[in-house]
Amino acid sequence: MSDVRIDDLPVRDELRGKSPYGAPQLDVPVRLNTNENPYPLPEPLVERIAERVREAARGLNRYPDRDAVELRTRLAEYLTRTSGYRVGVENVWAANGSNEVIQQLLQTFGGPGRTAIGFEPSYSMHALIARGTGTGWISGPRADDFTIDLPAAEKAIAENQPDVVFVTTPNNPTGNAVPRETVLALYEAAQAAKPSMVVVDEAYIEFSHGDSLLDLLEGRPHLVISRTMSKAFGAAGLRLGYLAAHPAVVDAVQLVRLPYHLSAVTQATALAALEHTDTLLGYVEQLKAERDRLVAELRAIGYEVIESDANFVQFGRFDDAHRAWQRILDRGVLVRDNGVPGWLRVTAGTPEENDAFLDAVRDIKKEQS
Ligand code: PMP
Repeated sequence: MSDVRIDDLPVRDELRGKSPYGAPQLDVPVRLNTNENPYPLPEPLVERIAERVREAARGLNRYPDRDAVELRTRLAEYLTRTSGYRVGVENVWAANGSNEVIQQLLQTFGGPGRTAIGFEPSYSMHALIARGTGTGWISGPRADDFTIDLPAAEKAIAENQPDVVFVTTPNNPTGNAVPRETVLALYEAAQAAKPSMVVVDEAYIEFSHGDSLLDLLEGRPHLVISRTMSKAFGAAGLRLGYLAAHPAVVDAVQLVRLPYHLSAVTQATALAALEHTDTLLGYVEQLKAERDRLVAELRAIGYEVIESDANFVQFGRFDDAHRAWQRILDRGVLVRDNGVPGWLRVTAGTPEENDAFLDAVRDIKKEQS
């Protein structure tokens, strides 16, 4: 049995020799490597989830609401309330994490013979989901300071004529937000080239100093805003992502979604979490303050830091980022080496976790000098 490996199987050519995505899940005291929210859900919410799930359990002999109408209505209300831009149930679609939202978008608008572009370094799953859906991937450029170099990006779009353009704001792993004018210019460039779909990945938008780009949906049927409950809602384990777009986009992704993809338990849990939005957004404020403290203290220690609008910070520079990652880990703190040469990424944790991280990087800075 054990002598048969993946490549001995008749797997698709583009999967040969590849490894699955995954940050190391190591058992260390301080884990600041996957941009999770460090605060467990508050006890009253845990109770409410139990109640809602108990109710859902009574109906588990039946398939769930295939269109998740109640959940999409509550998500639309959340978007409207926090952005001031009116979003209706017909504008919202939900899936198991925003990764699944992105997969459905690429199944709908990408696929064999089509391409997608992202401006890298950025969220590496965009490229991997492209590969998984048979969509060709184009690695677009970024400037040395990790902002999007607009003329270079526009040129890449004009030359490659991609079917899908990804813009991640705030960007992961670098943390910086993309200015609204840049997103608008990229949308225009994408329409002139093809026209293609522009997917704005706002997974971290609740942590931003700036506003969501939801209002740009007005009059732009090829724009999609993707969101998640994994970060600001502190519910990475729930697996609930969603998008806002023109109703035609919501109709289109239903051509590829699996029927009943969102379980009744998932829908019940997400609805309970949405009832506690205000408490959960309170944690976001604490995390933003801790993120700002990390930026200031890292700079005071002598590190270079990219301005962050997310719940994580990219810092450097290191001659050998992987070695620095290991030395921080040796001090009991797990951060992320995203493979960006010279840089590492740390997620904002609790004040105690951040103190442990700052002690570790202070130590290694001393050893360096
Ligand atoms: N987009 C970005 C930019 C992310 O960083 C992540 C998670 N790391 C996701 C999407 C996916 O999140 P989820 O599937 O948990 O919603």
